[in-house]
Amino acid sequence: MSQTLLCRQIDQVNVLVFVCAFAERLFITIMAEISLTLPSGEQKTVPAGITVAEALKELVSNKERKQTIAARLADRLVDLSMPIEADAAFAPITVDSPEALEILRHSAAHVMAEAVLALFGKEVQVAIGPAIADGFYYDFDRAEPFTPDDLVLIEAKMQELAAVAAPFRRETMSAAQAIELFEKSGQTYKVELLRDLAADTVSLYRQGDFVDLCRGPHLPHAGWLKAVKVIKMAGAYWRGDENRKMLQRLYGTAFFDPKDLKAYLYQLEEAKKRDHRKLGKELELFAVADQVGPGLILWQPKGALLRKIIEDHWREEHYRNGYELLFTPHIAKRDMWQTSGHLDFYGENMFSAMEIEEVSYQLKPMNCPFHIAIYNTRKRSYREFPLRWCELGTVYRFEKTGALHGLMRVRGFTQDDAHIFCRPDNLEEEIFNILDLNLHILKTFGFESYEVYLSTRPEKSVGSDEHWEQATAALKLALEKKGLAFEIDPGEGVFYGPKIDIKIKDVLGRSWQCSTIQVDFNLPERFVMTYTGEDGKEHQPIMIHRALMGSLERFIGVLIEHYAGAFPVWLAPTQARIMNITDAQSDYAEEVYAELRRAGVRVEKDLRNEKLNYKIREAQMQKVPYMLIIGDKEMEAHQVTVRLRNGDNLPAMSISEFAALIAGENEAGRTGACNS
Ligand SMILES: [Zn+2]
Ligand SMILES: [Zn+2]
Repeated sequence: MSQTLLCRQIDQVNVLVFVCAFAERLFITIMAEISLTLPSGEQKTVPAGITVAEALKELVSNKERKQTIAARLADRLVDLSMPIEADAAFAPITVDSPEALEILRHSAAHVMAEAVLALFGKEVQVAIGPAIADGFYYDFDRAEPFTPDDLVLIEAKMQELAAVAAPFRRETMSAAQAIELFEKSGQTYKVELLRDLAADTVSLYRQGDFVDLCRGPHLPHAGWLKAVKVIKMAGAYWRGDENRKMLQRLYGTAFFDPKDLKAYLYQLEEAKKRDHRKLGKELELFAVADQVGPGLILWQPKGALLRKIIEDHWREEHYRNGYELLFTPHIAKRDMWQTSGHLDFYGENMFSAMEIEEVSYQLKPMNCPFHIAIYNTRKRSYREFPLRWCELGTVYRFEKTGALHGLMRVRGFTQDDAHIFCRPDNLEEEIFNILDLNLHILKTFGFESYEVYLSTRPEKSVGSDEHWEQATAALKLALEKKGLAFEIDPGEGVFYGPKIDIKIKDVLGRSWQCSTIQVDFNLPERFVMTYTGEDGKEHQPIMIHRALMGSLERFIGVLIEHYAGAFPVWLAPTQARIMNITDAQSDYAEEVYAELRRAGVRVEKDLRNEKLNYKIREAQMQKVPYMLIIGDKEMEAHQVTVRLRNGDNLPAMSISEFAALIAGENEAGRTGACNS
């Protein structure tokens, strides 16, 4: 081996050693730094293993950091104490983030459980405590029921714990260790949850003396709970199972800002005052009777009148917009429900069959097959399209007794239904027309703020790709043409076609699902519907299902709460109440009453021998828009003095002038002029 060769070999060894050392250093450097991608797209390098809180110090301003309670790391929400081990997308969750309230409220639930255990000791078992839409709850198993005084104590204890500001600490351990821990403290519900979880490792959160099985994340410490309220209690079965134990559920809510809590509690109070069940009773609009059965609404005279006004308005508007009116029966042969697919897909919502002359019949849960039966009474041609058929159709659906709620959730209700049969190329225009009528009618009732959703094809569905694409595009175009902002709900369409849902916002800002517009490729197929096209061949029509108000019952429930029972004049079942000051004006009052009724004014009389102030107060309680007061002066002048429900007075006027005033208000209401 020559000298040079040897040298070269040594060199190579040296180089190799050098390269290895460099690589090792490089490797260590790679291991020790990770890259975080911020919401702006900017990438920042931080040491691996650093906690979220430490990373925030390097990544965001002090001001933002102080408002940060958690972070989104990749797709996961994590605590500030969580170490970051790998490259990831990173976003701070500040108090203004949409996810922040849920973290606050879930943490509040833990603190509520801590407070309950601190106050009521070992006799209490804790079950589960999630955040929900407007707050949070926690379920407790305690022999003695909580009293309203207890709720006050619990809230005070929570505030006390918040002031201590104990940190929420995350621990992970094996499920077996966690089971042992909860068995030791006698928390059998947690043990059951852990056994069912069948996980190897689980996370627990500890704050103060309280420990809970929990995925997290949580607030850094309880001191963030500056605005917390325990609201009410209710019974709730363990795991929603009526065969398991009934637990006591305590509801609460929490906000970052005490001002927000105050506003929420005010709204809650307002909602209570406006509760349609309470007002329905006070204003004698509707009732339910044990003898008749739950969820079956009895419309009292005033409620029936209100409903008639709404129905008349609805029918007139539809007729004017090219709809024809239908009436169909309440029962149909079971066979029809087999063909429609309702028995297979909707059977559990239907009432049991009844036998008539050895044939099975069923109460209708929907009106659609009846309208199809009318379609199929004869051959149809493209020339008569689009067919727009509407019906205020009463349907019956099974709901569990526990789910029933006033007018909002019932067993028998009247849908403001319509079906449109048309060609595929009519679709966009028809949807546009429906939206137009829909928004117009909602506006006449005082609703002008909406949330609109377009739901697209779900995984399980019928119909061709081409049909789905066409129909979805038509719905979208119609929404855009109408200038409506909407959100897309991917995969949330019905199995038979895409749909548009419209939620209305009431005066308290609450959303109510009312209108729905659904394209259907399924029923025309099932019922072998056809029409003769321009080409002389048979085709399958497109079917659109559509409801504007949803159901009359529910819509009237929403109306009662929206107006707090003080309906606008055109809707008020009683528009005016006549009151005499003394018996001396009785005859004249009767005359006014008869004349106004003849003029179409919805008028009542209160000619009792009572003080005028008493009569006025009663009329105000009944939210009657106009009080017509008659004394000697009015009698002599052949006039009435008009008092408004807010206490203001109009100048005295003649009977015909008052009738004209009402006619004007009716017109303004029906056309929506008073709401623009
Ligand atoms: Zn938790
Ligand atoms: Zn339908």
